[in-house]
Amino acid sequence: MSTIAERLSRVRARISRAEQDYGRPAGSVQLLAVSKTKPVSAILAAIEAGQRAFGENYLQDALPKQEALAGQPIAWHFIGPIQSNKTKAIAAGFDWVHSLEREKIARRLNDQRPDNLAPLNICLQVNVSGEASKAGLDPGSVQALADVVAGLPRLRLRGLMCIPAPARDLDAQRRPFRQLRELQETLLANGLAVDTLSMGMSGDLEAAVAEGSTLVRVGTDIFGARD
Ligand SMILES: *Cc1c(COP(=O)(O)O)cnc(C)c1O
Repeated sequence: MSTIAERLSRVRARISRAEQDYGRPAGSVQLLAVSKTKPVSAILAAIEAGQRAFGENYLQDALPKQEALAGQPIAWHFIGPIQSNKTKAIAAGFDWVHSLEREKIARRLNDQRPDNLAPLNICLQVNVSGEASKAGLDPGSVQALADVVAGLPRLRLRGLMCIPAPARDLDAQRRPFRQLRELQETLLANGLAVDTLSMGMSGDLEAAVAEGSTLVRVGTDIFGARD
């Protein structure tokens, strides 16, 4: 059994190695620790080991942990499906949302983002080829929603996110990530200053870094398997 600190340092080493292998600047890939279903004690152990960004999928799971960890130096990222009746708490309690895919939800988050907080950082979730679920925007709908989000004052459009299905070899893993990067390039060409590609998880972070990921979302390899 290894500790969370040991696992974290192994994941950090994998990221550094991938940055080197694929010609990415050192430190250009941020690590989001996905703490969904894991207890407060696990998050505290990761904070102790220097981790600051944490990702949660389920609001009901996240809220009590956020309360218990109030005052800790944490950036909270919401990465799960968003129902309309959850937007108020998400807008008030998170720094980032990676899983936006509907205009209606964008407008609610914008309207409900408290004035005393910085604009909420937003990534649009895209259903690239070989996606693990049906969630996410059709690639052809990305530009339109990106334009909407860019025009909302309490949101800050940061980039794109995807969750491809597991693939066996590196080439197959890289394909959907490349597709997301090409979509980002299109947005950039159209004048939207998107700086974030949220892609790569425990099993495929090297492939994601190879294709330009700026943020990998890692749960299992830091906190262990989920029940
Ligand atoms: C659970 C989850 C992760 C982490 O996946 P692991 O394979 O455990 O690293 C990343 N992103 C999203 C959106 C998730 O739901």
